[in-house]
Amino acid sequence: MYKNLKNAYFIQEVSALVRSILKKYNIKGGTFDQHFLIDTGYLDRIVAAAELTAQDTVLEIGAGIGNLTERLARSAKKVIAVELDPPLISVLHDRFDAVENIEIIEGDALKVDFPEFDKVVSNLPYSISSEITFKLLRYKFELGILMYQYEFAARMVSPPGCKDYSRLTVDTYYFADASILMKVPKGVFQPAPEVDSAVVKLIPRPAPFEVRDEAFFLEFVTAVFSQRRKKLRNSILNTNYKLKIPDVKEVVNQLPEDFMNKRAENLTPEELASVANMIYDLKSR
Ligand code: SAM
Repeated sequence: MYKNLKNAYFIQEVSALVRSILKKYNIKGGTFDQHFLIDTGYLDRIVAAAELTAQDTVLEIGAGIGNLTERLARSAKKVIAVELDPPLISVLHDRFDAVENIEIIEGDALKVDFPEFDKVVSNLPYSISSEITFKLLRYKFELGILMYQYEFAARMVSPPGCKDYSRLTVDTYYFADASILMKVPKGVFQPAPEVDSAVVKLIPRPAPFEVRDEAFFLEFVTAVFSQRRKKLRNSILNTNYKLKIPDVKEVVNQLPEDFMNKRAENLTPEELASVANMIYDLKSR
């Protein structure tokens, strides 16, 4: 009872269209991270956050039954809608084949190549959050408005020293400015997921610090956060089977003591980059 009341409070206006499509095609959701956003207020706020112009080509990952797609297409030059699940692809074709500015790409967003786009706006399939985000960040685009599980979003934007500060935070900060725009309660989806969500604004930019070798930096971050409670000296020594630093003990002895005595979780991305750079230079000698 309480749960229903709570959900009723949050939902501003359930989209009658979304409901009728789910019913007409007998779509229950649940598989492939299918949680359809049924609240028009949140749909509108996501579209508004994208600040679309008539020049924008928008990529949408996991278009589902097209509830967000339709709204994006009203303001953008073009929407490229990627969807994996055949029954939902049929709905998208039924709804949008006659709409000139919507292109449907059938397939796994992790596998298909994306055409050029200016913005990416998506209620993402949560199980591929990390992989799809870092795939997207290899493309050139202006702005991302992306929905994630709340806990994932919190890890993307955490300050150093907090429990959510992680490899994901440092990798995200390396590629982009990220901020949480809004928390989204589970009750505005059908079927409701088990946890709340959040919409993140992602602005890709060059890293605000120098990295001598990107692949080594990203590997270093992965390695030291896999031992986040250990002092950096020990996490480097313990993960050297991955990092493959020749004469690792000697190298570690040449690195600044104050960094070596701290844990990865207490070092800023800039500090982690400077340690990775020093190691890279020492191992390249
Ligand atoms: N856009 C709709 C909305 O906002 O209500 C649906 C979002 S739902 C959270 C995620 C969608 O991603 C589902 O339609 C699901 O079928 C699709 N999906 C899941 N994995 C995918 C993948 N690897 N590639 C493309 N689409 C995927």
